[in-house]
Order: sequence, then structure tokens, then C-alpha cells
Amino acid sequence: MLARNELFPHVIEMNYQARRRMGCSVYLVFDGNDWLLIDIGYEDTVAEIVELIRQMDFPLANCRYLVATHADVDHVQGLKAAKALLPNAEIVAHPHAQPAIESGDRIVSFAEIEAQGISIDFPAVPIDRTIEDGDTLKLGGLELETWYTPGHALGQLAFRMGDLLFSGDNVYRDGCVGNIDPHHGSDLEDFIASLERIRDCDVKWLLPSHGPVFRHDRAMLQKVVDRLSGYLHMADFGTCAVDWPLLKEWEGELLEGFDPEKA
Ligand SMILES: [Zn+2]
Repeated sequence: MLARNELFPHVIEMNYQARRRMGCSVYLVFDGNDWLLIDIGYEDTVAEIVELIRQMDFPLANCRYLVATHADVDHVQGLKAAKALLPNAEIVAHPHAQPAIESGDRIVSFAEIEAQGISIDFPAVPIDRTIEDGDTLKLGGLELETWYTPGHALGQLAFRMGDLLFSGDNVYRDGCVGNIDPHHGSDLEDFIASLERIRDCDVKWLLPSHGPVFRHDRAMLQKVVDRLSGYLHMADFGTCAVDWPLLKEWEGELLEGFDPEKA
């Protein structure tokens, strides 16, 4: 048997378990023989991840849920392959992520970014159960509270379990946040609200979908909120911004006319 490398009681993360970077964070939460996965990552690592789980003596028939935090291809491309290996598991997602996963939507998921030459498969797979904010995922004696945290992508979920928050692509240890892009439903005002909710909660640890696990730090999260609040008014963020104050200034200057002496 492969020794289980628990980050916290009942929580294993597969990159930490393998001691190398395989892709997005894949959290295995377990109680007794029952277990679930939060995200699965790319298709080409599914077999290896499931084999590691088998070697850790988790019965494959006892995988209860395959949870999709959201529909980005780097988190969910492997769902169909995982379901084939773990047929008893229910695939779980938020209703707003469901259409993209069930249709294999290549634009919303970032599987297809034509201008950058990115084009990969996104196998469509049916969602077995949708969950909303406040719903509970039960696993043995454990309960994961569902948080709907929109802003980065359509239907993004986070999960609270005691002092831990499986925080998805909301925020990473260095203060970066999940990609802001209108093509996968980013909304800066929603994103700020999700980050404020995370800032104000009393969890001790954030378990993100990329990069290291880190301590909840209110001051650090406030800086992230402040940064994104600035983005609301910057042309850099295109249609994700709500306005661009320079255009108002320009309107006034257009009335006055251009004067090289004053510019
Ligand atoms: Zn994402």
C-alpha cells in the first residue's frame, strides 16, 4: 500500500501525494472507505491519479462524487475518463457550469483559443447532480458546504469543510486570481464579492485549485480585493470593466478643443 500523505485530516491532494506537479489541484476528501474528488484535471493524468488512489487502498467503487469546481478545461477535461473508471461516482457541478460540461463547450472552457493556436479536446459528459450555494455534500460523517463563488468563470464553486476552504480559482498564494476573460463568463463585480466573502470568513486555510495551500490572511485578501476594484475602471479589462474614466475626461476636453500648449 502507498502511504497516504494527508495535508489535513481527511484531505489528500494528488500533486502533493505524487510529490510533483501533474496539473491543477485534485483534492481527495475521504471518510472511512468513502471518498470524493474535487476537480480531476486533464484527461492524460486521470489513469495515473486513479492508480495512485487505488494504491492508497481507497476502493474505487466507493468514489461518491467527482466534483467540478467550474467548467475550465484544465479542471474538467478528464471527467469523462474518470467516470469510466469510477462509474459509481456522481458528477457534480453548479447549474451555470452544467451546459458547458454537458456540451463540451470549447470556447467557454478555454479548450479553443484560436488566436493563440490552442485547440484541445473537451469530451462532453452528463452532470449527475447540480448543487447550489448552501447545499451540503455528505461523505461518511463529513459535510462539505457549497459556496457559489462567481466571478472567474461561470458557475464556480468553493467548498467549506471546517477550517478549510477548497477555494477553486478565486485566489492563489501569491495574490493572483483566476483568469479574467469575458469568454468564460468572468464578471469583475461578482469576483470582488466572492473574494470579499472569502476575506470575511473565518476559515484558517485556503486550498486553491492551482499552487500551494496557504493560510487565510485577511490583509492579503484585502489587497486582492483592492486590486480587482481598480480593474473595474481600467481599459485593460475590456468588456469586464464597468467604465473607463478617461473617456469622461476626453468628453470634456473635446468641447474645449485640443491645444498643444496645454497638453
Ligand atoms: Zn479556471
